[in-house]
Amino acid sequence: MNENNIHTIRTLRPAPLVFFALLFLFWNLTIPSPPHASPPTPTTSPTPRPPTPHPHHAHAHPTKKPLHPTPKDSTQQASLLLAGLFKSDDEFLRTHPSPYFQRFCDQQTPEITLVMCSDSRVHETLFHSDPNNHIFTVRNIGNQMLTAMGSVDYGVLHLKTPLLVIMGHTHCGAIHAAMNPYEGEPIPIISELDHLFSPLKPLLQNKGKHTPHALWTQGVEHNVDYQVQIAARRYQKQILTKKLHILGIIDDIANIYGYGFGRIVLTNINGETRLQALRQHPLVRHYPEATKKFHIYRPQPAHIPSLSPPPQTPTTHRNAITPHKTHH
Ligand SMILES: [Zn+2]
Repeated sequence: MNENNIHTIRTLRPAPLVFFALLFLFWNLTIPSPPHASPPTPTTSPTPRPPTPHPHHAHAHPTKKPLHPTPKDSTQQASLLLAGLFKSDDEFLRTHPSPYFQRFCDQQTPEITLVMCSDSRVHETLFHSDPNNHIFTVRNIGNQMLTAMGSVDYGVLHLKTPLLVIMGHTHCGAIHAAMNPYEGEPIPIISELDHLFSPLKPLLQNKGKHTPHALWTQGVEHNVDYQVQIAARRYQKQILTKKLHILGIIDDIANIYGYGFGRIVLTNINGETRLQALRQHPLVRHYPEATKKFHIYRPQPAHIPSLSPPPQTPTTHRNAITPHKTHH
């Protein structure tokens, strides 16, 4: 508070009301905010919204041209994006003051280890309002176990989460890429896509029986089953002692199953994939029928009842089955 200005206000009490109005206006224009005030609110000329980040090449929609506007000035674009991050952080901190972080800043205690695709259209916030300190997330293209085993081990064995969720999603670009030629990709991408060969192989060998779109969805389902199977083998002891349950879930961002865009659908519990068995599983048996109807679903029983042993160190590109054109 400025002592001189206070004094001025006190000595000018008899002045007309309009004077105070002018003084008030002057005060607001010239007096800076106190040093510990909240982050500044937007001015009358708001910061431009940062452009939408480019979708990952491997995850572009196959039937639409991906949005790849070439920025005239990438530095300016990056600067705007960064400003957007700072602003979002400021807004988050306004609604989440210190105690929110002090609860878990010394130790994390998540309940769920989540293996999910890196796809930008799918985040934990689709099904959890606050993933902080609740979900230990491992992400990669195609929600894979073998390419991230150390991270998954950390969640399951060290943090001892009682739930391991492996979540795929419809219209997954990684699955699409792996079901089509990808020799032109950089070696590290090829290496990760190669790990998807085992779950997709049975589909690729019979691809004439299904439309490409149906095959794509089945590829997503096969892959989730495959990843659950790998996890179930690795954490067999924890499952047997009921310290861990492994769930296979598909986030239906494209409403392929007809239960709504973005609906999460349970398709696998500890390797069980039969619909009736899933709905009667002790884990969900007591759920309301409506919940079961909309969230526990399989288009058909297990596609791959017996998977071949997962490759431990695939080093070569083996995707030589599909000669047709890719959408990239
Ligand atoms: Zn994906």
